[in-house]
Amino acid sequence: MRYISTRGAAPALDFEGVLLAGLARDGGLYVPESWPAIADKLKGWRGLPYQAVAFEMLAPFVGDSLSPATLAELIDGAYGSFDHAAVCPLVQVGPNDFLLELFHGPTLAFKDVAMQLLGRLFNTVLTRRGEQVTVLGATSGDTGSAAIEALRGLPAVQVVMLHPKGRVSEVQRRQMTTVLDDNIHNIAIEGTFDDCQALVKALFNRLEFRDKARLSAVNSINWARIVAQTVYYVTSALSLGAPDRAVSFSVPTGNFGDIYAGYVARQMGLPVERLVVATNRNDILARALNAGDYSTGTVQPTISPSMDIQVSSNFERLLFDLYGRDGAVTAKAMAGFQESGRLALGANVLDQARALFAAVSVNEEMTRETMAMMLRATGLVVDPHSAVGLAGAAGARGDRSVPMVTLATAHPAKFPAAVEAATGIAPGLPPRMADLYERDERYAVLANDADALQAHMTAIIG
Ligand SMILES: *Cc1c(COP(=O)(O)O)cnc(C)c1O
Repeated sequence: MRYISTRGAAPALDFEGVLLAGLARDGGLYVPESWPAIADKLKGWRGLPYQAVAFEMLAPFVGDSLSPATLAELIDGAYGSFDHAAVCPLVQVGPNDFLLELFHGPTLAFKDVAMQLLGRLFNTVLTRRGEQVTVLGATSGDTGSAAIEALRGLPAVQVVMLHPKGRVSEVQRRQMTTVLDDNIHNIAIEGTFDDCQALVKALFNRLEFRDKARLSAVNSINWARIVAQTVYYVTSALSLGAPDRAVSFSVPTGNFGDIYAGYVARQMGLPVERLVVATNRNDILARALNAGDYSTGTVQPTISPSMDIQVSSNFERLLFDLYGRDGAVTAKAMAGFQESGRLALGANVLDQARALFAAVSVNEEMTRETMAMMLRATGLVVDPHSAVGLAGAAGARGDRSVPMVTLATAHPAKFPAAVEAATGIAPGLPPRMADLYERDERYAVLANDADALQAHMTAIIG
């Protein structure tokens, strides 16, 4: 399999190339040259374990970059760390409504599904090449802990993770700072999340240091993360009768990575009736799909903070297809967007998008009401992100004979304050994490200063 850039001006790469490159050199995102077809294979995959479906889905994308035995071993390792035998189990919550639980990984959010595999892929490829990298990142919560859990103890990778001091929840901080492996370095910065991101950018721009420290990233535009996320769309649809029956999905959406994976599964031949983009009040995607207005504003804080963003990086991958896979047209549109902060989508593009996607923006009140209503109706306590997805499903239900699957992207114990305020129930951590508040923590505290950060990193990683 070869991968091309959405902006049409970077060299095509194989799987190993896109895994290590992240962003393409022309500023675009890598996508596969063509979609592997699965429609004829789906019936044969019914009843297979999650890991076996993952192997079938990943193999055509990985191509010759890994042997089949190595790929199978990495998949088994990644999903062996989950605390449910089904890996991503499906729960019924209404007559034809289901919740797909994606939070059974080590850090209780769906990012583990992709990160657990990405870490192992990274380590395998780097070890084979005899290379070492330093993953430098900034986090406001979920991404940092998922990356740390996925990369802990890997000999080819050092991890330096910045978080804003005192501005992440205690659960989120402890999930990072209680990981004591030698290759994990947490730093609390005296500043905001934006300050942390600016520091990361500043160090990536110091080219001499960047090369010496071999700086790298495992960000959400990495193609390997997308392909790992296609798997649970397939396993859940198979459970509900695909390919004989189509299924719809509602997806709490921020960066458009998770829902784009659903689109990929459908392009490959999974019968998907509708994909509901469920956003919180940071609604750039809902405005884009409902009014053709893709334009940024300022980020508004919400009780579903992992979706508090104003630019959805992976949306460019969908736009590339809607523009007829024309890299020059996509590059021009994105250049205009970067300059003015807005992009108007034409009638042709919108019609194509709306044939599959619906979009709903869910406010804070509705999110809280949905959590309370779920508890009353089913006895289930859901987290605020999943509640946004459930409200989106209710708002864009369509044909009731088509099963609607809402993606539950986080465990309620990850956001205990918001959950308790809405439901009156303080969600407990799963047993394997029950001692999180007693574990030893290790982290450094630094001023918001790029020179201090560089000196600190030079001291710890040489
Ligand atoms: C990251 C995240 C999302 C949003 O996923 P995208 O791929 O960015 O759309 C939703 N819910 C939770 C809990 C997350 O951590």
